[in-house]
Amino acid sequence: MRVALDVPLPRLFDYALPEGASVASGDRVTVQLGRRNHTGVVIDAETASELALDRLKAIVDVRSDAPRLPAEWLELMRFLSTYYQRPLGETVIAALPPRLRSLKPLPRKALNGAPFTASARFAPTHALTAGQTHAVERIAQKLDRFAAVLLHGVTGSGKTEVYLHLIARVLERGGQALVLVPEISLTPQLEGRFREAFPEARLALMHSALEDIARTTAWLDAARGGAGIILGTRLAVLAPLPKLALIVVDEEHDSSFKQQEGLRYSARDAAVYRAKLAGCPVVLGSATPSLESWYNFRQGRYERLELPQRASPGAQLPVVRTVDLRSHAAEQGFTAPVLDAIANRLARREQSLVFINRRGYAPVLTCEACGWYAGCAGCTGRLVLHAPDRRLHCHHCGAVQAIPRECPTCGNVDLKAMGRGTQRVEETLALRFPDARIVRIDRDSARRRGELTRTLEGIRRGEGDILVGTQLLAKGHDFPNLTFVGVLNADTALLSTDYRAAERLYAVLSQVAGRAGRREQPGEVLVQTRYPDHPLFAALASHDFAGFAESLLAERKSAGFPPYVFEAALRAEARELERAMAFLREARTLAEAPAEVRVFDPIPHVMTRRAGFERAQLVIQSPSRLALQAYLTALTACLFETAQRGVRWHLDVDPLEFD
Ligand code: ADP
Ligand code: ZN
Ligand code: ZN
Repeated sequence: MRVALDVPLPRLFDYALPEGASVASGDRVTVQLGRRNHTGVVIDAETASELALDRLKAIVDVRSDAPRLPAEWLELMRFLSTYYQRPLGETVIAALPPRLRSLKPLPRKALNGAPFTASARFAPTHALTAGQTHAVERIAQKLDRFAAVLLHGVTGSGKTEVYLHLIARVLERGGQALVLVPEISLTPQLEGRFREAFPEARLALMHSALEDIARTTAWLDAARGGAGIILGTRLAVLAPLPKLALIVVDEEHDSSFKQQEGLRYSARDAAVYRAKLAGCPVVLGSATPSLESWYNFRQGRYERLELPQRASPGAQLPVVRTVDLRSHAAEQGFTAPVLDAIANRLARREQSLVFINRRGYAPVLTCEACGWYAGCAGCTGRLVLHAPDRRLHCHHCGAVQAIPRECPTCGNVDLKAMGRGTQRVEETLALRFPDARIVRIDRDSARRRGELTRTLEGIRRGEGDILVGTQLLAKGHDFPNLTFVGVLNADTALLSTDYRAAERLYAVLSQVAGRAGRREQPGEVLVQTRYPDHPLFAALASHDFAGFAESLLAERKSAGFPPYVFEAALRAEARELERAMAFLREARTLAEAPAEVRVFDPIPHVMTRRAGFERAQLVIQSPSRLALQAYLTALTACLFETAQRGVRWHLDVDPLEFD
């Protein structure tokens, strides 16, 4: 039989079956490779090996502690392996929860699946609006076949309610529904809503922050078909689901659906492929769909269902305006209109949210006398000053160091903290509004998941007057009493050279703006900027995503960027930049690129050094997906054959980040 193993080689390994044992494709086995035992998955138990039987090792053990991996799942793995140019062995083994990769048998705790007593009883919270009803009915019509639906609903339009009603239909038929969400921080509230709606259903929660055993149990419950609802982050798309009947990708535009290491898959794209395999609908929900999905809708591949209004009675979309930083002086980052708006909410006992997309106290510690600034030894980036521990943190590699007493180059003791992050904004607000309860939410304050859940619940109950936060606070949360959002500065994104910057900025601003006025009280949003005339703000103010998406598409088309071309990046890192560059230069000559495939010159990353490695990449583009795939396959085959001393490389297909 042919076995997939977790080794970085583009091949499978042949083993013999011991007398009397029976094995089928999809079985987990223990086999020996070199001197060590490995966990493998049988990919092909039928085709005879080309090697003589006496030259094959026999498998050590057939593992029966977890269900056999179904053919459809193996098919998904084959697709991911081919599409993302990663050896099948690495793909298959990495898709298993860690406990199933290990050689140790599963503990009994994980094995004893509870009896399947789940019931499909559904307790809806709301009577659906006309728009929601239409969406539910339209999608429910397609429950027995593949269909990709873009559920384009403004913030607060009740997309979750639509998902719940669809899931109810799926559970009624005995099917499984897979719901993918971007962040773990989102799941507590969402999990609560699911449990309330389906008090007797079996729900499997899947994300990487779960303990090993909990994760394995959830996986087994999903793989055995016991769990009716599978709610998780991107990795949940890799679970075997024998009765899969619906996939929902909530906030489908979110970049966290793309894995940034190992198998660099997009869970959203994998979800669409999976739905095809399973013959079921996939619902991509967002207020600001990705341009890729928008393009697919425009091409007629996806059906778009729109929810243009907020669902809660009386709730309107917020009024969005800009504050011109050229005419309103900012003091400690705040202009008068924003401070007034906050004061106003405090007086009315409503909540405000101050959004700044940078954590820490100050992003630069500098010496004004000589121009020195605190940089990370391992990275090109600057160190960020953090107030709580009074230390310098590298946000790229995690290094932490003490604040120098004096400038290391000129001895000046008066070092200055420049710019601001969430901690400094919190400090400024505390001085300005001493009686207000200020809650800061970012990755530093949210280290412990339980704590974040409690904080978020507190905010929902009205604890906290001013919230300060990064994107983490923008996502999905429903804070009934929040009526004002102030965005301190959005301009860095407007000046970015990344062609996705505008798309992302629009998404994050509309998401953070979407936290305001989700009930009867109208919401107001003020965005401080030096470029109030930028078309992005006009679109944001008129809630015209469609118009904005069309203008971005036109730009991408004329510039030759995705979704009009397909892209991949070949990246290399080495201790010396020249080595990485030389590797890429050579890679360029290895496989002949057909006319439709364009291979650009290698260039160093914008942030060249990271955690001690110098990084460079070359971009490969083609208007033809097939031509690109064929070229990448040829290229990877060559790369696996050439020895590269001191260089690590990987391919990123459909890359989202370039530094
Ligand atoms: P979205 O995910 O589209 O941003 P949510 O599903 O979170 O929106 O819904 C926003 C708010 O509207 C929630 O508080 C939800 O309970 C409420 N809601 C949803 N549907 C309805 C409805 N049909 N009637 C009244 N309120 C609703
Ligand atoms: Zn100095
Ligand atoms: Zn660093």
